[in-house]
Amino acid sequence: QAKIKALMKLYKVKVEGDNIPPLLTNFTKMQKKYGFNQKILDNMKKAGYEKPTPIQMQSVPIIMEKRNLLALAPTGSGKTAAYCLPLLQKLGTHQKNGVRALIFAPSNELAEQILREFEFLNYGVEDGLRIKQIQKINNESNAFKIQLEHIDILITTPLKFIKMNRKSHTEFDKLEYIVFDEADRYFEFNIAGQMKRILETFQEKQGLTYLLFSATIQHPVEELVKNIIVDPLKLQIGGKNN
Ligand code: ADP
Ligand code: MG
Repeated sequence: QAKIKALMKLYKVKVEGDNIPPLLTNFTKMQKKYGFNQKILDNMKKAGYEKPTPIQMQSVPIIMEKRNLLALAPTGSGKTAAYCLPLLQKLGTHQKNGVRALIFAPSNELAEQILREFEFLNYGVEDGLRIKQIQKINNESNAFKIQLEHIDILITTPLKFIKMNRKSHTEFDKLEYIVFDEADRYFEFNIAGQMKRILETFQEKQGLTYLLFSATIQHPVEELVKNIIVDPLKLQIGGKNN
């Protein structure tokens, strides 16, 4: 316990909440504890990821335990892989049950970057997850509807998701995770209303795990989600000015 505290101090990891799973300072420990797929680890090595960044050290155990998470860490600190890695591991192989993780990015470019990170980490995994980004809607929405059943992880902007205008949410019956990346940007871009609308869409659904990642301010994000996301762990990397 004292050792964990010292490590948290060293890596400037702060967490608020109950029963905080201990941080893991290297990928070997993560593999031992959670049986990480060797292919994913090989891909990380190829990408030059030698050790987890501080946000990854703490977010991986939190996400592996399916806890709700509000995370704050500076730009460039590896937030994408911080949820990408545990989600790939948790969701495992392709299932034909429909979308299990829904990832929201505040712009199409960001959504594409997230897709790329998932694709390279997932590369070569046997019977690997199907990961797609919503690119075009309107006329193609019907085609997309059929495809959705064969997708494990869906990445989209909130607007594109809202525009799909699902009457039934059967494609999302098996949904387990909702991620908002760059959550602070929703306020910067004045699209916080879209985040709220999506949270309300799934409010009645039981057993969802929510993961929110921000780089700057967290307060408005917390305000917006506080009645919907229950008992999140609050993770912060760095000091007041990071
Ligand atoms: P953020 O979302 O926090 O701004 P990104 O997820 O975009 O950061 O990651 C920033 C850069 O760091 C990317 O180029 C990514 O590939 C790289 N990166 C992520 N995790 C690691 C790691 N464990 N070791 C080295 N580089 C990493
Ligand atoms: Mg990011």
